[in-house]
Amino acid sequence: MKRQLFALTAAVTLIPLALVAPAVADPQSQPNGPWPGENDSNIAAIRSYEQLWSTLENIEGHAKGTFDLSPAPLTSNTGREIPVVSIGDGPTSVMLIANQHGNEYVVSEAMIEVVKGLSGSSAKAREMREKLSVTIVPRVNVDGFDADVFDTSGDTTPWRQNYDPSCTAEPCDPFYEVGRGYDINRYHSYTANAFDHPYREGDDNDNPVPESIAMRLLWDERQPELVVDFHHQGSFVDDDGGLITGSTMWPNALDEAAEMGISDEFAETITLSKRAVSKMLTALDQYGYANITRYPSTSTPGIARNAYGLLGSASVLFEMRGGIEAKSNGYITKTAQVAAASVLEAAADGTLWTTSTAPADQIRERGDDLDNPHHE
Ligand SMILES: [Zn+2]
Repeated sequence: MKRQLFALTAAVTLIPLALVAPAVADPQSQPNGPWPGENDSNIAAIRSYEQLWSTLENIEGHAKGTFDLSPAPLTSNTGREIPVVSIGDGPTSVMLIANQHGNEYVVSEAMIEVVKGLSGSSAKAREMREKLSVTIVPRVNVDGFDADVFDTSGDTTPWRQNYDPSCTAEPCDPFYEVGRGYDINRYHSYTANAFDHPYREGDDNDNPVPESIAMRLLWDERQPELVVDFHHQGSFVDDDGGLITGSTMWPNALDEAAEMGISDEFAETITLSKRAVSKMLTALDQYGYANITRYPSTSTPGIARNAYGLLGSASVLFEMRGGIEAKSNGYITKTAQVAAASVLEAAADGTLWTTSTAPADQIRERGDDLDNPHHE
């Protein structure tokens, strides 16, 4: 097991205390999200940027034990602060991030529930805080969710990318939407330098995505042994026609690992990641929330799942079903919450590092897409 390089308590004091950032438009007044079946009632049910901060501040006011709410090391591209919650002061560091894609937002609500649970007064919560140092970023892509901005095509948020309309005609950088911005989940540096551009040769400080750099700087500070990244996918069915409730995947950037000369270490990381996936699958099955399949992932190294795996953390992608109505939000939130709780508990009691990988090894492939393709 990898050891923490820095004490969490030392790391968090480097970050100034959060202040609430300037007001932006109410997301309820904005057009629909991009998912088929998405509707106004759903986005209206999700906390706005201001509500996210105020909810977390409210939780902080009642939190038991070690609790810190601070902005991420860098602001979003429009200058908004990204809330980061740090809970516990235990020896095992775990990092949960969500909503890197602005239009995949129900998981941000799930993270708030995880924060509430971990900061509560129960014996279980206290034990978790003693064993773990948990970093939670409920909404990485604050701009892509509800910044009051328009891209050069006249569209507004929520959308997948951050907001950075600097490139108005091709050729732009890879994973860039013309006149809009970058896919945050393709720009995590996996070299020694957090500011490195993942798709330019050699070491540089040219990474154009502050939200991705901010997550990497947090990783550098906290040295998590496990990173879980929460997203939403479209609606899929399995071979029996059953609706798939989620998909998951471990790192798979095998070629990049070979190029970096770390294939053996990466293989070990994949095994640890599969153990985490197995814990999630077992817990979800037990609670009856499961029809979970393997996410058909690419090996792009700048994806969080791969980047933090290449850096040595066990790393897991968890994709909840999306594109459905607000009345399903509670169910989605609960499923993501159970998935998060399962790995946190296993990290706390140590079984995360020894459990069988059989559930992950036996996971089924994801079936047909009911609406549109989506890529983590
Ligand atoms: Zn996504």
